Amino acid sequence: MNKNAIVLLSGGQDSTTCLYWAKNKYENIEGIFFHYSQKHEIEYQCAKDIAEKLSIELHEFTIPAFKKIGGNSLTNDIKMDDSSKKIPNSFVPGRNIIFLSFASAVAYKSKITDIIIGVNEEDYSGYPDCRGDFIKSMENSLQLGLEREINIITPLQSLSKAGIWKLSDELGILDIIKKNTHTCYNGDRSKLHSWGYGCGKCPACLLRKKGYEEFLNI
Ligand code: ZN
Repeated sequence: MNKNAIVLLSGGQDSTTCLYWAKNKYENIEGIFFHYSQKHEIEYQCAKDIAEKLSIELHEFTIPAFKKIGGNSLTNDIKMDDSSKKIPNSFVPGRNIIFLSFASAVAYKSKITDIIIGVNEEDYSGYPDCRGDFIKSMENSLQLGLEREINIITPLQSLSKAGIWKLSDELGILDIIKKNTHTCYNGDRSKLHSWGYGCGKCPACLLRKKGYEEFLNI
């Protein structure tokens, strides 16, 4: 069993699946959550509840700069748009670069070598900071900048959304994923569907729902 890891938590399906995956592989885990002016408090609540459930320390950092920079639908009052073939406007430029840098500073202090992040193939088509090439390059930069061994572990990298549901089933956490994670861009928690809470209409809900339906047919 590996020793220590720090897991980036967002309160969403992917990072929560990563956390439970890591629980079986590491002796000690710490979590890290960023308050970056995301619109819905529920994401933080989900991350906090899961950290408490697993009795892990949750480091929290507030980064107001993304809202100030603006131009994206996650931190600013801009309608979500993924209609063109370009990167959707839910992309927050620099987000994973900054998050991984903060995580590496915590890892350095806590003598942790492994940073776990839930990026995956299906985000890759939209978000450049979810690509394997970026992760490898960032790992290299952090190692050089810290003069320490730093490994960025991406357990979901090659998985589809259906594959991530399958992994959560294998980990025995389907129910936790449905009830204790949040994906919906509209922050809707009014109704529990077979695939979890959400409005069922926004791009995030549709991706989550489609993945779940595909998982049922695997
Ligand atoms: Zn939704």
